[in-house]
Amino acid sequence: MKSGKQRRRELKARRQRKREKIHAATVAEKAERGVAVVVTELAPCNSYGVPRFVVRGYYVDVDFTCVDCGVQQVWTAAQQKWWYEVAKGYVYSTASRCRACRRQERERREAARRAHLRGLADKRQRVAE
Ligand SMILES: [Zn+2]
Repeated sequence: MKSGKQRRRELKARRQRKREKIHAATVAEKAERGVAVVVTELAPCNSYGVPRFVVRGYYVDVDFTCVDCGVQQVWTAAQQKWWYEVAKGYVYSTASRCRACRRQERERREAARRAHLRGLADKRQRVAE
């Protein structure tokens, strides 16, 4: 007859094996389904919540409508991985503009910044005179 200690050790080993098996299965499954999320590469975030794609463990293509021109677009899993893990985009941010409108918006912002800096320089010039 086995002692309680032996029995507990056996049960523990069995549970560990089962856990490893489940873990291996989910990792393989996720890799098969799409682009896996590498949580350690995400930008730090102080939210208590967890983004849906992190819970899911992989990125999926997302349909969105451009806020400027209204064109229907797809934000692909690969683009999301780049945005969140390489560019370190905020984890709760999502695509809102198509490529053309994004470039236009960037140009508009740069022009506005140049105008602002020019204004400041002019003001300083006037104050100095
Ligand atoms: Zn657009």
